[in-house]
Amino acid sequence: VCNLYFYTMVTVALLPIGDELLSGSVTDTNSAWIANKLFLEGIPVQRKLCVGDNLNAILEAIEENFRQSDIIIMTGGLGPTKDDVSKQALSIWSDSPLMRDEATFKQLQHYMQSRGRKVNELNASQAEVPKAARVLPNKNGTAPGMWFEKDGKILISLPGVPYEMKALMEEQVLPLLKQKFSGIKIWEETLRVSGIPESELALLLTPLENELPPELTIAYLPEPGQVKVKFRIAARLEHSENAILLLQDWASRAEARIGSDVYGRNEDTLESVVINMLKKDGKTLSLAESCTGGNLGGRLVQVSGASEIFSGGVIAYSNEVKSGVLGVNPEIIQKYGAVSESVACAMAKGVRKLTGSDYGISITGIAGPGGGSFEKPVGTVWIGLSTKDDLCAFPFLFEQSRERNIIRACLAALSVLRKKHLGFLGKPVN
Ligand code: ATP
Ligand code: MG
Repeated sequence: VCNLYFYTMVTVALLPIGDELLSGSVTDTNSAWIANKLFLEGIPVQRKLCVGDNLNAILEAIEENFRQSDIIIMTGGLGPTKDDVSKQALSIWSDSPLMRDEATFKQLQHYMQSRGRKVNELNASQAEVPKAARVLPNKNGTAPGMWFEKDGKILISLPGVPYEMKALMEEQVLPLLKQKFSGIKIWEETLRVSGIPESELALLLTPLENELPPELTIAYLPEPGQVKVKFRIAARLEHSENAILLLQDWASRAEARIGSDVYGRNEDTLESVVINMLKKDGKTLSLAESCTGGNLGGRLVQVSGASEIFSGGVIAYSNEVKSGVLGVNPEIIQKYGAVSESVACAMAKGVRKLTGSDYGISITGIAGPGGGSFEKPVGTVWIGLSTKDDLCAFPFLFEQSRERNIIRACLAALSVLRKKHLGFLGKPVN
């Protein structure tokens, strides 16, 4: 597919500013987001330097970054309060005084009026920018972005508030940078996999990896209960079509090799995939959650449209609720224990009867770190599934961490439901 090798002429440095970033009270998500956007546009970031709200530190950081980089993207410290000094630093660096930008001031007035407030001295300073700046209007806030060009270098200053920064980047900065620099773009295709550990997945894909063309790369990104397999290709814009075809082809080959454990692509989540699947087939679901304490229900309702398929659930944490509300026979609990195949089945059936849904799913397990035994160690989880003509349960053994066990139990329950609905799971033995 021609020369797809990565090549770029510009170098970018990030300069996130804020005392709260250095103290660790705010995580620098802005840099990660910007770096990823630029990377995908073929303008990768080389370095990042984070400094506090300190005039000299900012000036030194600008100087140091420009020794190695052509472009600096700075975020934060643009506010009206005393602690925000980025604009003063930029005024000194660009050797131009702060002056009121009339368009920004008008917008500020309008913004304040629409909230029944008046522009005060402090807000008014938001409309001041160094004379040398090209203003990037900020429709989501009061501090505009700024674009400077000096001695062949570009400095871009953006507000720290993530959603203001993102809008400015997407609507103004990226189009300008792309126009000026990028001839290369990066495409990605991600397979979402649940049900195979990372190492087994990697082994399964080894033969395919060995044949991978050099312009394609593959990365394994594990998370509790799932792995993302990310294919990535870099190509010059004029070769986009070929690059995308190649990418799709290899992603599909990998999917065919992995099989039914691939539940989706790219931004899909198990929740969204399961909800859409049930929606499409007009089926409803109810939950009986013990060790996950409502977590699965909570995950489902994050997806818009969940109400069409999700009837409701019972958090059956105690044995009393398992028996009293779900109708699990106390003798079964006594005999087999609350974490058992029989109880998982009874819970799933109970909640399905209670709500009249098509599927009843139950989760009962030992999340840990306490409560384990030799026969049932921490991480033991049973997932039950009940339909009009089927009742079954599946055992899992996860790990020691309570947090991870809860996540993995939720994903396993969704996985069981998905595979059952699609016919990947055979009839259970019981
Ligand atoms: P404002 O005009 O609202 O004061 P600003 O440009 O002065 O914006 P900061 O005061 O530095 O920006 O930060 C505003 C808020 O944005 C901070 O409270 C912080 O929560 C968030 N923020 C700042 N920098 C970052 C960053 N690098 N990553 C994530 N969040 C950030
Ligand atoms: Mg601020």
